[in-house]
Amino acid sequence: MNTDKNTAFEMTLQGSQYMLHGFPVLGVPDEERAVKYFSLNPFLPNAQNRCPIECAYCVCHQDRDWHHYPQNFQDVLAPVDLVDLLLDRIFATKEGQKGFPISLCDYSDPFIPTHRERVLSILNALIDRKAANLVYITTKVHPGQSFLERLKTTLERPNSLRVTVFVSLPPLKPGYEQASIQGRVQLLQDLVNLGIPCCWYLRPLVEQWFDEALMWQLARTLLPHISHHVILSGLVMSEEIEASLLKQELIVPEWDRTQPGRKQYLPLEFESKLRSILSTVASEQNISLGPVMGHRLCGTNGNHAYGCLICAKQNRYCQLFQLHHYGETIAAEDNQRLKTLLRQDSVKVSSSLQREPSTEECR
Ligand code: SF4
Repeated sequence: MNTDKNTAFEMTLQGSQYMLHGFPVLGVPDEERAVKYFSLNPFLPNAQNRCPIECAYCVCHQDRDWHHYPQNFQDVLAPVDLVDLLLDRIFATKEGQKGFPISLCDYSDPFIPTHRERVLSILNALIDRKAANLVYITTKVHPGQSFLERLKTTLERPNSLRVTVFVSLPPLKPGYEQASIQGRVQLLQDLVNLGIPCCWYLRPLVEQWFDEALMWQLARTLLPHISHHVILSGLVMSEEIEASLLKQELIVPEWDRTQPGRKQYLPLEFESKLRSILSTVASEQNISLGPVMGHRLCGTNGNHAYGCLICAKQNRYCQLFQLHHYGETIAAEDNQRLKTLLRQDSVKVSSSLQREPSTEECR
């Protein structure tokens, strides 16, 4: 175990997590757990900071030391420069320098009141450091129009970050989530209207919890706004989450017990059904449906583009992504222009999935 001390504060590295007073303030990419992003939680989970939303399946439930004991953190202080300390840790790693994603306030909701200023100050600190990382903001809370405008202003500062807001909104039967559905629908619409990169994040999807009527309704409401940024994703299960569901008399889905703490795959037929509802609604409304994706990384690619997975060039829209979803590549001049071109051409190229990557850009 490594131990870092700064005056009164002690941070310890346990596995891939930096712990402060027993709370994981920073998770680093971990090959063993197949985690490819930094999880930045620069706070302590006291009554203000812990997530109040209480989703029945929350990964925080698996923790026996902090989520259920906010009173233990009431009189404990975090360093005032905790954000900077943790960013120093991130950029001391090769992954941090390479631009690996940084996910904000995962062990709470980044848009609850107490974290809003924190999110802006993290973004400003990253911009000041000239960081070029992907940044994930995953939320179930509408933070209000004025905050969204401030977020937009922050993102208008010249920067190389690729920030995406993932609005988690799966169509679930009652009992699994308390967060307002209407608030999340509105949030997606407002983000789109303001031009803030965002995705409809259908997570967690669980066949036994699925509300099909709600899925149709959400698809009809949201696809006209966000048809190019849809992500389907499964549930993270563990014995603790199972116990929490049982305690609430909710359905425990089948899960792979050899993979606790990892995301469960969507059954193929269930995923096909979801995709077919999305396609049906898109054709009903005569709108083009973009790639329906499975990861936040692809969601960010859909908004910003990131380095090509085939040729490893950082300044182009990923060829693998283009080939897989659009059926062809276009020589990159500028990523944003390319994205526009792809969208204009997406109907035309969708039937031509046999094309090869353009060679001239890959040498
Ligand atoms: S919003 Fe996120 S952190 Fe909060 S309870 Fe739900 S899953 Fe957990």
